[in-house]
Amino acid sequence: MACMRYADVAVDAAVPHPTTFSYKIPAHLSVESGHLVWVPFGSQVLKGLVVGLSPSSPVAATRDILQVVEPSPLLGPVQLELGRWLSRYYRCVLFTALSLFLPPGFEAQVRSRLKVSREIDVDSLGLKPGVAAALEALATRTSQPEREFLKALGRSDQREVNRLVERGVVLRTVSLPTPMAPRYESFLLLRDASPPEADLDADLGAGLGGRQRALFSALQSYGEPYPARLANKEFGAGTAQALFDKGLVGMEWRRTGPNSLREEKAGPSFGTPRSGPTGLTLTPEQGTALADIELALDNPAHEPRSFLLHGVTGSGKTEVYLRAIDRVVRHGKRALFLVPEISLTPQTLERVNAWFPGRAALLHSRMTPRQQFDQWWNVREGRFDVVVGPRSALFAPLEDLGLIVIDEEHEWTYKQIESHPFYHARTVAMELSRLTGAGVVLGSATPDVESYYDASRGRHRLLTLPNRVGPALLGPVAGAPELPGPGTQSAAARMAEVQVVDMRQELREGNREIFSRELATRLTRCIDEGRQAILFLNRRGAAPIVQCRDCGFVETCRRCSVSLTYHSVLGRLVCHQCYGRTSMPRQCRRCSGSHIRHLGLGTQRVVDEATKLLPGVRIDRLDGDSTRSGHGLELAMDRLTRGETQVLVGTQMVAKGLDVPNVSLVGVVLADIGLFLPDFRAGERTFSLLCQVAGRAGRGGAPGRAIIQTYNPEHYAVRAAGAQDYSAVYPVEIESRRQLGNPPFNRMVHLVFHNSNRGSAQRQAAQVRRELDRRAFSKGLTDVDVSGPAPGVPERVRGRYRWRLLLRGQDLHEVLEGMDLPAGCTVDVDPVHLL
Ligand code: ADP
Ligand code: ZN
Repeated sequence: MACMRYADVAVDAAVPHPTTFSYKIPAHLSVESGHLVWVPFGSQVLKGLVVGLSPSSPVAATRDILQVVEPSPLLGPVQLELGRWLSRYYRCVLFTALSLFLPPGFEAQVRSRLKVSREIDVDSLGLKPGVAAALEALATRTSQPEREFLKALGRSDQREVNRLVERGVVLRTVSLPTPMAPRYESFLLLRDASPPEADLDADLGAGLGGRQRALFSALQSYGEPYPARLANKEFGAGTAQALFDKGLVGMEWRRTGPNSLREEKAGPSFGTPRSGPTGLTLTPEQGTALADIELALDNPAHEPRSFLLHGVTGSGKTEVYLRAIDRVVRHGKRALFLVPEISLTPQTLERVNAWFPGRAALLHSRMTPRQQFDQWWNVREGRFDVVVGPRSALFAPLEDLGLIVIDEEHEWTYKQIESHPFYHARTVAMELSRLTGAGVVLGSATPDVESYYDASRGRHRLLTLPNRVGPALLGPVAGAPELPGPGTQSAAARMAEVQVVDMRQELREGNREIFSRELATRLTRCIDEGRQAILFLNRRGAAPIVQCRDCGFVETCRRCSVSLTYHSVLGRLVCHQCYGRTSMPRQCRRCSGSHIRHLGLGTQRVVDEATKLLPGVRIDRLDGDSTRSGHGLELAMDRLTRGETQVLVGTQMVAKGLDVPNVSLVGVVLADIGLFLPDFRAGERTFSLLCQVAGRAGRGGAPGRAIIQTYNPEHYAVRAAGAQDYSAVYPVEIESRRQLGNPPFNRMVHLVFHNSNRGSAQRQAAQVRRELDRRAFSKGLTDVDVSGPAPGVPERVRGRYRWRLLLRGQDLHEVLEGMDLPAGCTVDVDPVHLL
């Protein structure tokens, strides 16, 4: 290693995506691949990750690495390899891709200390007086935290400090804390006598301050003892004590730190296990599926290594996952279990924890930064066999990976859309499998059409669980009527009965309400019988689509076959894909009817109408607005589970996760809203959402019913959802993809140009479009199709305009290769959201 004098470093700067820089390794540093380092870059000092070493440098003048941040390399070879792939495939800065693997929130944990490097004569350095004084003070100490030194400078001038470091006057040492030695810490916990949050105001009146209240509700949704130190940090010093003094919470000293983890429960986890390994006898279908998976797990050469487990809700998929995980753990390997959204899957989490008590780690973005950071180290030190988490858990430092499970693989939350890289967990899992040999199990009741297509072509092995096995494991439910006896057990194993109601018919017969007569009757009866109901409104990304209420017709673009959107600025209907425009029709093109309206309906309106229909009934609302404030989601779910809420009105959140046995009726208020989103996946999404939401009904003993209201009962996605029949939707969907050249038959890349100036955004998009056409032509890539520029839906988000280009074809990476895109342009490879 002695001859490796240069390091290849991915630098945290906006550089073209695959670029790395060569730095010299100074004699006093020992540097390895995977090290996090500080390097000089222009006039700045930046973080970098060492991706390789070499005996020589490709460039003549190299600068020195300044510092190794953490003595152990933070990334291993597999992670470096996967990071490179991510950067290439998703076209993002290499450092950005690699930083996915760093401990979460590590920046806040970096401890940086300064010391004077040698005997210096401060006066001779020609420093400003303030700097000189701070330096004099530093010289009298062995070292000082950088933050303190910055304060001593009077104004926090980071550049000044960097200059001192670069001149060699001051030495900087940087480290990350590893989990600390065992220690005792005081924890807050709810006491049995603690009142439910809803009663707080009544009990205490104005006695509880805002911060105390916030802490109390945080404790309640956290459901685990909570370190007082963190509570004070997050909610203000003294807040914890105040709650304790009022008798609202208890306090307890507990041993914490790594050594206690083995004996006690490992890290923040998921509540009290309700069952262990289940000891169930697998159904023949489960047995076959598991045997197939085990064949691959037992034999590294077995192909394919990925499986698509297609089974309706309650068909025993989770049981299969758990046993497959058990298998790899017995082989001394480890497993990743990805779930679409942590807070919506408490039952799944409990079951993993129950099967692998103390050996399953949960990675959860709701954990405090320090908890996440510690958990990362715990995982890295091999304390866990199973890591459960959302898509980002893919980047956990788990060694000896044997299996990746992706539950509900069709969920859109598996695609990152907030920041680069815009990766999809499924795609990354497949690459990780290729690098490590790990098996992959994708599970869903309504598989993504692309996954199913892959399975049909042998890329994944298709495993099917066609039937429900039995009632879900039920927890005690306050206020729920007695469950029927064993005689009706088979009822629970049935799927909910789904009924499609034609709203055109309602209109014809004089009913202009938002509830059909059928839904109104069923709702009333459901409540009378002491059961609960969910009213569902698919409003996510709702676009201003116009529809004829007489016949259900929705105007679509003839070229792109997506619904047209009403654009108020232009006063016209616009295709948001190709920007084709037509005037707003006064009459329906199909039936000449004149009831043309916007498809738009808010949850509040539904609540109002439900209140009119069911006076005195407790109705709750769950949507983006009500959950933005932190723990709204868990609280609303809790109220429903406890039976406090009789009717829950909500958007897609209510479609997932909820497992409340006493819910016997689900009403889909207007299926058309999702159906006609201007996105080629709208049909597929609506189908899967409708199936999922129908699955919320009848999970207990009573038979469930779902009512889907629509102006388009003959739409294939609605019909298939009515029959809960995937095989009725897949062939239609895949054929239309084939005809229109959409994925999986072509790749897509979505470019979005953000700018506070509308004209600039549009111009940039137009320029890039010309350049793309030119490149495609000169490279002879005849299959590449670029559509746009077109405005986003909505066009303006948080004050910035969005204009878009959509690329379709086979060799999109080649067209984009080496292309300079303007700042503010996001690149989404394999986009799943096209608004
Ligand atoms: P899914 O993940 O497909 O929704 P689960 O694995 O959660 O299905 O199974 C649904 C319910 O059936 C759970 O309560 C589970 O414990 C139970 N179950 C699963 N497999 C069996 C089996 N072989 N025999 C009896 N009950 C089972
Ligand atoms: Zn179009």
